[in-house]
Amino acid sequence: MDDHETLMDIALAEARAGRELGEQPFGAVIASQGRVIAQARSLKVSSSDSTAHSELLAIRAATTGLGRRTLDDCIFYGTCEPCPMCLGAMFNAGLKHLILGARLRDLGDIAFAFNDYSVERFAELVGWDLTLVEGVRQQECEALYADAAVKFSR
Ligand SMILES: [Zn+2]
Repeated sequence: MDDHETLMDIALAEARAGRELGEQPFGAVIASQGRVIAQARSLKVSSSDSTAHSELLAIRAATTGLGRRTLDDCIFYGTCEPCPMCLGAMFNAGLKHLILGARLRDLGDIAFAFNDYSVERFAELVGWDLTLVEGVRQQECEALYADAAVKFSR
């Protein structure tokens, strides 16, 4: 199991499961050599924790589970382009491969207002040699946010 679509499907399932429980529909998967190391959904609502983003929770679960601080041999899958906090966490974890479904630029009014922020701009700013693959299960990922009943807030 090492193709991007299969692993993104797991992230999508996390996002949808979270949505069913009243969470914002974000899902994340961290894999290594096709094996899932961690998977997570946003828990901001139920935990009353503004930092409980799916991406951050997945990184914590992966590093804790592996018993090491870096994830340089892992690939990160996210249903949506990560916020600056989560992208900073990925940078700190030494991740080098990021696979995305939805991009903020494509979500229009649904997305958070991050002005000119993008993964590429952040990576350039901090000197991060990041390999980015976008458009994986893009329609399914965008539908998560288009169908959302509430406007997202940080
Ligand atoms: Zn985030």
